[in-house]
Amino acid sequence: MRLKFTFWPATVAGIATFALFVLTPLAARAQEPTKSDTHGIAVGNMDPSVKPGDNFYQYANGAWIKRTEIPPDRGRIGVFTTLDDLSNKRTLGLIEEAVKENAPAGSNNRKVADLYTSYMDEAGIEAKGLDPLRPHLEAIAAIRDKRELARALGESLRADVDALNNTNFHTANLFGLWVAPGFNDSDHYAAYLLQGGLQLPDRQYYLSDSDRMRDIRAKYQAHVSAMLKLAGFSDSDARAQRIIELEHAIAEKHLSLTENEDIHKANNPWKQSDFATKAPGLDWAEYFRGAGLSNQASFIVWQPSAFIGESALVASTPLDTWKDWLAFHMVEAHAAVLPKALAEERFAFVGKTLSGTPQQRPRWQRGVALVNVLLGDAVGKVFAQRYFSPEAKAQVEGMVANIIASFRKRIEALSWMDPATKAEAQAKLTTLYVGIGYPETWRDYSAYEVKADDIFGNIWRGGLFAYHRDVNRLGSSVNRKEWSMHPQTVNAVNLPLQNALSFPAAILQPPFFDPLAPAAVNYGAIGSVIGHEISHTFDTEGSAFDSKGRVRDWWTPADLAHFKAATARLAAQYDAYKPFPDLSVNGKQTLGENIADNAGISAAYDGYRAALGAKPAPVQDGFSGDQQFFIAFGQNWGSKQREAALRQQVMTDPHSPAEYRSDMVRNVDAWYPAFNVQPGEKLYLAPPDRVQIW
Ligand SMILES: [Zn+2]
Repeated sequence: MRLKFTFWPATVAGIATFALFVLTPLAARAQEPTKSDTHGIAVGNMDPSVKPGDNFYQYANGAWIKRTEIPPDRGRIGVFTTLDDLSNKRTLGLIEEAVKENAPAGSNNRKVADLYTSYMDEAGIEAKGLDPLRPHLEAIAAIRDKRELARALGESLRADVDALNNTNFHTANLFGLWVAPGFNDSDHYAAYLLQGGLQLPDRQYYLSDSDRMRDIRAKYQAHVSAMLKLAGFSDSDARAQRIIELEHAIAEKHLSLTENEDIHKANNPWKQSDFATKAPGLDWAEYFRGAGLSNQASFIVWQPSAFIGESALVASTPLDTWKDWLAFHMVEAHAAVLPKALAEERFAFVGKTLSGTPQQRPRWQRGVALVNVLLGDAVGKVFAQRYFSPEAKAQVEGMVANIIASFRKRIEALSWMDPATKAEAQAKLTTLYVGIGYPETWRDYSAYEVKADDIFGNIWRGGLFAYHRDVNRLGSSVNRKEWSMHPQTVNAVNLPLQNALSFPAAILQPPFFDPLAPAAVNYGAIGSVIGHEISHTFDTEGSAFDSKGRVRDWWTPADLAHFKAATARLAAQYDAYKPFPDLSVNGKQTLGENIADNAGISAAYDGYRAALGAKPAPVQDGFSGDQQFFIAFGQNWGSKQREAALRQQVMTDPHSPAEYRSDMVRNVDAWYPAFNVQPGEKLYLAPPDRVQIW
């Protein structure tokens, strides 16, 4: 979970490499009934007039697509957002119970209640005006020299980035801290430092020549000026211009997202004493003192060139420009809990201009999201007890065991893989920790002070609490079973440095998983998700980490060459998909995720057949077991997306658009007899053209 309160959707803020899905911003009201009424595939969502072999996505989802409209407060809607709605409503219910309970001071429930209540108190926020912000702006105004600037920059450091788990490379602070198992010693927590300093989502927004980016930059300049004016600054146009020039200069030093994702470029251990010589400009001793990291001997610097560039900019840019930059970033980060004029100005830019979302989510949903960010485990513990039964957990554990077993067989049967590589892949499956539903231990919030009438302070202290928690465990032993998501999150994740997976309770719900649904449906839906995440542990991304989560290449060059040849055909298959006449899917950019989908559905299918044993699959609603399996898989991807959001995904995201993820069925032999798919139908592939990776 991202620990900053800015509501950047991950689709804008960064790319979710190891997460299964593009993280969606929190959802609005439920529009669609889930499959829970029927315990099986959603027959009413299908369009039987379409031939499965011509357009499987429409066949599985056509009726739903026809009758569904994208609500004005979001960029997309689909199974994930519908389930998000459900999870948010349930979480709200738990928060409201906590409010009614009037729990003792200091208890988790009291903190949940007070945090939510303080966020919902719009009249209180309005009445306080700019008061909560004032001491922070005064502290910035009092900075006298570059040494004090360095300390203030250090004080702004937060644990708000995450390079590999809930992948988020964006922080508006000068740099970001990520505390995670070390690249070179995965038994202990290390300090990773990442580039930062930009408000806009990525360097492209400052540097690209496209009309869209030019237009965004013009509107951004007006926005910065408007925010400064509302916060009481004089001369706001000139200040805005200088702030944006500084951010532009920072953007020039930044690495691109593609470069960020290459962990081999990121493994740069620097001693604290190296910073002053390797990246002169910033007073590093003062910076680390401000950050409370004076005693931290070493760091892993993710993007050395950006640190060199940004540090030099601290020296070369006038102090007053940096002070304006700090002040604007302070205002922008807290606009959501400042008077309406500021909150609305920020949404007009971030919501409408950047994301194309015409309307803001209802306040209660933003309140739930805030509780999830700052007290996610407190409410998540109750969520898991209430909405995920021990029987459901046992059932999913059985599915996971079957799917892992089918992966073992598939790896053993590979003709091209070196025995030594196979052995390490099998070792990774042996040590793989799969978290189902909820973590075994819960975060301790006792050091986090929450007040019922101080939302600004609650958020400020929440960011510091999370930061200190991470700083305090630097160097200590890694808990490989720790989660980076909450039970109420609708997603799934692979944690490569821990060799672990998490499947939160909120995704283990219909339509993905239903304890009462036929096995065919559960394996087709959540089974393929489980298979997807498992395959990441030993694909070309996962192969950078060994069975203990250490960075170590365990693939032989010959294995890699074979793998590349096999996967090139899958890349070519995806290159041919065209969501728009002028825009194709990028087969290379989406290859890792497509491989995981390819492997996921195959392993889930094997797991399903193994679960059946010798018994015939029950027919339901006139569909055979195999038909239910594939339709359930296709219905994972039922969704609608605004054009701007879809174009952005095609250009920047490693996940293919939903429709083409559903088309993966054409590579599975069993799909053909299940729907009697014949040559000449649009998705038909002759057996040699079907791609099987694992
Ligand atoms: Zn994935």
